[in-house]
Amino acid sequence: MPATNPASYLCIIGMADYEEIVDTHGTESAKLLREEFFHRAKQWVRPSDPSNVLRDGRFLVLLKGVSTAPQLQLATAKLKRLFSTPYNLFGEETPIKVCAGFVLLDGDTTTIGQTEIQRARKALRQAVRSDRLYEVFDELNQQSVDQEKQLLNALEIATANGELQLYYQPKIHPAYGSLVGAEALMRWHTQDGKVLTPEHFIDVAEKNAVIRPMTWWAIKTAVSQLARWPKLPSLSVNLPPPLLMDDEVLSVVHDCLEIYDVTPSRLTLEVTENIMITSPDIILSKLAQLQSSGVKISIDDFGTGFSSLAYFRDLPVNELKIDKSFVLKMLASEKDLIIVKAVIELAHNFSLSVVAEGVETQAAVNKSNELNCDQLQGYYFDRPLVASDFEKRYLNN
Ligand code: C2E
Ligand code: CA
Ligand code: CA
Repeated sequence: MPATNPASYLCIIGMADYEEIVDTHGTESAKLLREEFFHRAKQWVRPSDPSNVLRDGRFLVLLKGVSTAPQLQLATAKLKRLFSTPYNLFGEETPIKVCAGFVLLDGDTTTIGQTEIQRARKALRQAVRSDRLYEVFDELNQQSVDQEKQLLNALEIATANGELQLYYQPKIHPAYGSLVGAEALMRWHTQDGKVLTPEHFIDVAEKNAVIRPMTWWAIKTAVSQLARWPKLPSLSVNLPPPLLMDDEVLSVVHDCLEIYDVTPSRLTLEVTENIMITSPDIILSKLAQLQSSGVKISIDDFGTGFSSLAYFRDLPVNELKIDKSFVLKMLASEKDLIIVKAVIELAHNFSLSVVAEGVETQAAVNKSNELNCDQLQGYYFDRPLVASDFEKRYLNN
């Protein structure tokens, strides 16, 4: 089919709920409705616009010269109007739900190929999924959706194939310089030899079901490491918000501690402060349940989550970790220093221990010590280390 100069939208429209109609009304009625769908769709098409019925019963149209947002709005408003009245199906007013997918063809496109049709179909599927009249294919957005899918797929395989590893970063006493604990941080050793930090995968993981096996694996690995390292006072694992609400979290933690015969108080679960934004009451009771099982709870990235101090009063936690953004800047910025001081004071007034994260210099160590911070974590001491290196440096004496 020839395309035109200038740019034009290619569109595929379809009935959004055809399968459902077949199920509820039967094949004969569905056929009638589909005929009505084509009848109305044809009214939408201007005489000069090439159109075609596709094999799967969808309708393809090239809207010649329609290329701007206002033009598209006019065209879709007409489509909406044409399908706004229900069809009289044997005396029953039955709506015909239409959805459309658009893709913009630039003026140089001379033929409509499979790629363009696939893109319009993708946009149509998106419209059906999000229950909207239409969607426009967005190349950049599509790329990121595709990339995310690929990443997710690889991550699922990685989790099953043991490509994930925990690294260990020491937590140090500011005055004595002694080891008081460690945080387990995830790394992904990919098949092509790269070591990826969580910034490359944790957001995608946390939006999807794979975060569950990943987190259970992290808890199990951390607890098994605690069993192997009796000299390590405590080890922290990150517990992402969706899993704090998971019914299984309590039993996973409990079972791991029992299997490896580890004292619960040696395990700390780090949850971020922003969990308090949604359903704080449920979160509070979950935290209390976990805490009563003997494990310690730490609030990570404290100061960034805007949680209400009213909840803070009743928070069943043991430790606050001051977000590294404040610690990194506290020597250069009076305002950040004030926040660090305030958090330490607040925590101590509630008998909580305070960890300063992001300690990179001797000056930051001195300052944190002066402010009575209880534990320090940061590159000044060490980056997260593989288990064998951590053991050599901190546990072999
Ligand atoms: P986080 O829990 O706040 O972990 C601290 C991050 O700060 C770590 O980054 C650590 O390497 C980094 N860090 C430590 N000391 C310093 C320092 O002195 N300066 C600077 N600039 N950074 C420092 P990492 O390992 O890349 O982890 C990033 C985030 O990914 C973590 O932030 C955590 O939110 C998430 N994450 C890591 N491991 C896990 C995991 O096992 N499960 C889940 N759900 N999230 C994880
Ligand atoms: Ca953490
Ligand atoms: Ca943190």
